[in-house]
Amino acid sequence: MGEKRCPTCGKWSKWSQQLQDVCEHCGQELSIKEQENIKRMESHLQGREENWMFYIKETDPVWLVYLKKTGNFFYTIFMAIISFILWLVAAFPG
Ligand SMILES: [Zn+2]
Repeated sequence: MGEKRCPTCGKWSKWSQQLQDVCEHCGQELSIKEQENIKRMESHLQGREENWMFYIKETDPVWLVYLKKTGNFFYTIFMAIISFILWLVAAFPG
């Protein structure tokens, strides 16, 4: 168990380091900002191909397709790491 400062009322509340924990003073969720960040990241990760950093067109030559696929692969890993960091920030107080 730890404590987290409520973003809504500013008081310190007990929390079990879960994203869905609510403030014991005002009843609002303690991790609103973190949840928003994670949702944004998830929607980005689940985005359509057109939203990828390197969108592969049918007219691209083979070497460029490989290059873009490699780029997207590292981009996906990068986004996964960012999501993990956001989760860490959300899971620990401070
Ligand atoms: Zn509160």
